[in-house]
Parts: sequence; structure tokens; C-alpha cells
Amino acid sequence: MFKNIVILTGAGVSAESGIPVFRSDNGLWENERIEDVCVPSALARNPGRVHDFYNKLRREVKEKKPNDAHLAIARLQKEWPEKYRGSVSLVTQNIDNMHELAGSADVIHMHGYLFSMLCTSCHRHFSFDQDSHPDDKCPLCGRQTTRPDIVFFEEMPYHMDRIAALLSDCDLFLSIGTSGVVYPAAGFCVQARAVGALCVEFNLEPSATVSNFNYGLYGKASKTVLAFVDHLLKTGEALEEMPR
Ligand code: NAD
Repeated sequence: MFKNIVILTGAGVSAESGIPVFRSDNGLWENERIEDVCVPSALARNPGRVHDFYNKLRREVKEKKPNDAHLAIARLQKEWPEKYRGSVSLVTQNIDNMHELAGSADVIHMHGYLFSMLCTSCHRHFSFDQDSHPDDKCPLCGRQTTRPDIVFFEEMPYHMDRIAALLSDCDLFLSIGTSGVVYPAAGFCVQARAVGALCVEFNLEPSATVSNFNYGLYGKASKTVLAFVDHLLKTGEALEEMPR
């Protein structure tokens, strides 16, 4: 019987909400090179361009709504502890707010969050939902050193100690809509397997790290995750294949 569940989501969970995934023809970065908007040197070289990129993204994401996969995850987080006395922790690589809008609490944003800013002087984070500019003053210390609260390539993801602790005590690990090529997230499954957790991936097709999982459910997350959560809440058991 499962008790503690850890869920990892990636860009694929938000694809059906109309937020493009990373590695696709119409991906978020189709008109921008990573090295211009998603590395620390870009911020130093051309901060206006970096702020503008995330301003555009934030405006676009504000128009989107969570889909059935986000809603099913939020329902699992609410009902599993009451019914089976376990926990459901949610770690996301996404910077959007679809999980929050679906009703998930305590979403662990390991790659940062579009609706937060970071002050590089006082190192504090603050909520933010407007357009930002490199000259903005930090509301906490007053210095003009704010940046989008996004973990760039070459930077250390957030909350790694907390995530390691959750993985070390989980019985069921679900990886939803992630390509398995961005580390350290791609290694979480191995950590969960090491403590005996059942590991299931949800994707359109087997990911780069499929061999680390016990098995996968393939198809749109809105269908596979919903069916899995329905079955899990009804029986306490993991669904192994999609019902016909
Ligand atoms: P990725 O774009 O590399 O991979 C997405 C995966 O989702 C792919 O394997 C794809 O097959 C799968 N997928 C696409 N549509 C799906 C669907 N409907 N149902 C199930 N699976 C589906 O994304 P990643 O692995 O998360 O890594 C990319 C990085 O880019 C992450 O760090 C993330 O922070 C960032 N990113 C975030 C967002 C967002 O916040 N929504 C969007 C794009 C990229």
C-alpha cells in the first residue's frame, strides 16, 4: 500500500493548457536563443531583453487555464491524505502558475516562478504579476537589483535539500510531461527507485529516461493522469494500463 507520493511535473503537463513545451517547433524559445534569455551572462549583457522575454511570457500565461491533469493532481493532494493518511508532494520544473490555479498548495517550483521576482542584493523573493524592468526597486531593500525569479541554465535549482528528503521517503513517484533530459530533475526517479518507490512516467511517448521507471502510461496527460488519479483514489493501487 502506498503512503507518500511525490509528483514531478514538466512542461508537458501544461501543454494542453496552451503553454508550449520546451523542445517543440512552436516552443517557448522558438524566437529566442537560450543564451540570450536564459543564462546569467544574458542578464548581465542585456537585462532589458531578459526582463522583456519573461514579461511577454507572464502576460501570455495569465490568459491560460489549468487542464484536467493539473486538476486531478490538486484533487489527489486534497483527498489522498484524508483517505489514505499519506502525503502528496508536488515538485514542478514549470515556471507557470497552472498548479496554483488548479488548487494545489505548496507547489515546489525548483526552476523558479514567473509570478515572483528575486533581489540580487538582499536575496529575497517577492510576489509579482506585472511587467518588470531592470531599474525597478526592490520593495524589501529599495535597491535597483531585481531580476525575474527564474533559475537559469548554469544556476542551482531551488529546494534541492527538501526534494531529496521527500524522495528518500516516498513509495510512489510520478513523473508527468517531462523529457528526462534536464538534470537534476531527470535523476529524481533513480533516487526514488533506490528507496523502493514504484516509479511511473506519463508522457506522449517513452522519455529519454524510460528505463529508470517501472512502467509508463502514454497519451495526453489530461487523460492518463486523470485515469490514474481516479483509480488511485478509488482503490489505493496504481493503474498499470489505460482502460479501453
Ligand atoms: P520539455 O519541453 O523538455 O519536455 C516536455 C515533455 O512533455 C516532452 O517529453 C513531451 O513529449 C511531453 N508532452 C508534451 N505534451 C504532453 C501532453 N499533453 N501530455 C503528456 N506529456 C506531454 O520540458 P521539461 O522536461 O519540463 O524541461 C524543459 C525546461 O523548460 C524545464 O526546466 C521547464 O522549467 C522549462 N519550461 C517550462 C514551461 C512552463 O512553465 N510551462 C514550459 C516550457 C519549458
